[in-house]
Amino acid sequence: MQHVLDAIQSNADSAVFAKLAIPETYRAVHVLKAEQEMWKGVATKDKDPRRSLHVGDVPTPAVAPDEVYLAVMASSINFNTVWTSIFEPVSTFGPLARLARESEWAKRHDQPYQVVGSDAAGVVLSVGSAVRNWQPGDRVTVHCNHVDDQDHSAHDDSMLATNQRIWGYETNFGGLAELAVVKANQLMPKPAHLTWEEAAVNALCNSTSYRMLVGRNGARMKQGDVVLIWGATGGIGAYATQYVLNGGGIPICMVSSEEKAQILRRMGVQHIIDRSAAGYTFWNGDEHDENEWRRLGKDIRDLCGEDPDIVFEHPGRSTFGASMYVVKRGGTVVTCAATTGFMMEFDNRHFWMRSKRLIGSHFANYREAWEANRLVSKGMINPVISRVFPLAQTGEAAYQVHHNAHEGKIAVLALAPTEGLGIADPALRAKVADRLDWFRR
Ligand code: NAP
Repeated sequence: MQHVLDAIQSNADSAVFAKLAIPETYRAVHVLKAEQEMWKGVATKDKDPRRSLHVGDVPTPAVAPDEVYLAVMASSINFNTVWTSIFEPVSTFGPLARLARESEWAKRHDQPYQVVGSDAAGVVLSVGSAVRNWQPGDRVTVHCNHVDDQDHSAHDDSMLATNQRIWGYETNFGGLAELAVVKANQLMPKPAHLTWEEAAVNALCNSTSYRMLVGRNGARMKQGDVVLIWGATGGIGAYATQYVLNGGGIPICMVSSEEKAQILRRMGVQHIIDRSAAGYTFWNGDEHDENEWRRLGKDIRDLCGEDPDIVFEHPGRSTFGASMYVVKRGGTVVTCAATTGFMMEFDNRHFWMRSKRLIGSHFANYREAWEANRLVSKGMINPVISRVFPLAQTGEAAYQVHHNAHEGKIAVLALAPTEGLGIADPALRAKVADRLDWFRR
């Protein structure tokens, strides 16, 4: 791929990119179907992504008429790559086999390997015959909403499409690689003021938080809303915190260390709870402890004088009962995940008697992803990178996310030889410079 990198670094024009040879194989982070049973009997925390994520060459698939080949400069670790690598809650090879039954082109996805990764920033190398709005040489970032838009179920909100999938998780040929195959409708312009690695970390988490809080399909936060954000310096939490601050809300940010609290103070957050210091025990074995829910509610009232209008929920089983309890009468819990367990319990009496609402939310439709990227491009939402790893160390990067040993996002360099490349709008960068290092270690 050196010839591709040379063209990118010399800012070659579209005609040059269009003539570049697409290699027959490419370096990619992948899991193996033959290893999908490897963690049988192993506790979740002991399943080690460093053993199941392999870095090596895989064959280059053909590109469908509505797809492009992307030279990936950088990508990022999302929690879904952790799920894939530990084969929980299910092996992703099952969904790939189901996808393969949908069409001739979809058959490509069922391989003995899966190239993972649901974020990417890079350069379009060549486009399928039906692609109109993008051309070789375009600098782009990729959102992970993989939808067959010929299906009528995709037409209103593409997240409601019956065949909606997350690219690089429920599809093959994802972004943690030097080359990726991407549907043209997943492409968005790369924010020009950002480096490759900064541009690569946003799309999945930023779009998810946008839909949960801002878009018309989520909690529809308004000015003055008090929003409790679990994991406020984690991947999605760090964008949620920015949306609440930008939108005139009042964030109540939950974290588990003083270092994370300091990041939030740099961002301008006033109300922070350290859940480790507070020592909440919402569960006593299999029993909820309602007194602990009340203690959390009191801590929130002591901080800002009110109950939360919205709870940004994703830890799942460990916190869900508390979230449903502390949210204000008529308030909304919006959830997109269940990291600590997906069988949730809550006290329905508090829920119905106080007319609360619960909204399930998954990634973002095309429009929401585009709007979220637009805000990044304007410097209004900022990347939350704490560390950058080379592709060869993706396993270690995923291990850190698996063990909550990171803040914000971990970026991964693919073709980009070093950090700091790819900036095309230094003037905007200078304007937001103080926000680009909030999370850096
Ligand atoms: P992340 O970067 O690991 O952040 C998660 C945060 O949760 C951590 O920073 C941690 O913060 C907090 N946390 C962990 N265990 C907790 C517990 N027991 N109680 C309370 N807080 C806890 O992960 P992420 O990228 O934000 O993703 C979070 C979850 O959302 C994952 O399950 C992911 O798969 C899911 N997700 C879903 C979508 C979707 O479209 N549906 C999109 C993105 C992510 P502290 O330790 O500081 O409290």
